[in-house]
Amino acid sequence: MLTTVAWILAFVLGIVGLFVLICLPHNVRIWRVRRVYRSLPADVLEQVLEFIEQAAAHGPSVTFLRLAEEVAGYDALLVQSHVGGVPYAESGDDWPQGTPEGEPAKFMLQVRLDEPSLGDQWQDRLIVVFLVFDAEQAVRSYAAPCIDKYVALEPKRPPRPCNRLQPVRMPAEGGEEGRLPMLPDRLCNDFPEITVPLEPYTNDFAGVLAQILRPNVYGYDLDAPRIAYVGGDPMLIQNPHDPVCDQCGKPMRFLFQFGEVVPGVQMADDGVCYVYGCDDHPDRCKGFVDSH
Ligand SMILES: [Zn+2]
Repeated sequence: MLTTVAWILAFVLGIVGLFVLICLPHNVRIWRVRRVYRSLPADVLEQVLEFIEQAAAHGPSVTFLRLAEEVAGYDALLVQSHVGGVPYAESGDDWPQGTPEGEPAKFMLQVRLDEPSLGDQWQDRLIVVFLVFDAEQAVRSYAAPCIDKYVALEPKRPPRPCNRLQPVRMPAEGGEEGRLPMLPDRLCNDFPEITVPLEPYTNDFAGVLAQILRPNVYGYDLDAPRIAYVGGDPMLIQNPHDPVCDQCGKPMRFLFQFGEVVPGVQMADDGVCYVYGCDDHPDRCKGFVDSH
């Protein structure tokens, strides 16, 4: 009897030990790149981002949205890109309903568009996205947002902490899937000058670059549920959405997508939200959430 128990115990311990051994390098690498990221001087961080933007100037690019610092007051960001905090709104707007039972929608983020490849009608627009319990999300599009036109919505939920979304022009790679942002491995490989400012701090350039682009992510690489970007083509994790405009029936243009980048809110199991708009009716936008 005792030996059976001992054998079972040894077996279980063996499995646990094996599991720890397999996971250890993964976790150690994450711990290392996060520690390096936290110790980086601000000017090094700025230099890396600047080199990425310079690299983007030479070929096809998209606008990466970097989850930047938390902001205490919302006022400075009312008409700018941010996650959490309060949404921009104008007279006549109300807080969208999130469920048929009347639960309020969750404000996710707003994006001020300045990606040139989208075309003139989209420049400077502000797109506001709420998460609703439905296939299609609540998306609002404002042509000329400004503080004077801002009317605060009665908050149906207490505002979450607010983080700035910092636009970073980033090189894109073209392939069968279309024009997609270049992720850290490829960036370091194709534009080695980006890694030069990091040389005194690490030799895991791609891992630290992942932290720079998505601060404190639990990982050393990036995928669709971890990032947000404007322009190019959607990084699909399910079938294409092929949305059409409710007003004219024409196919809509891909505007931007974002993954699980809103602190404290989970859209789905590794969800990604895709936002589209009609070039002829830019007030009409649609958003869809997919998950793995
Ligand atoms: Zn239309």
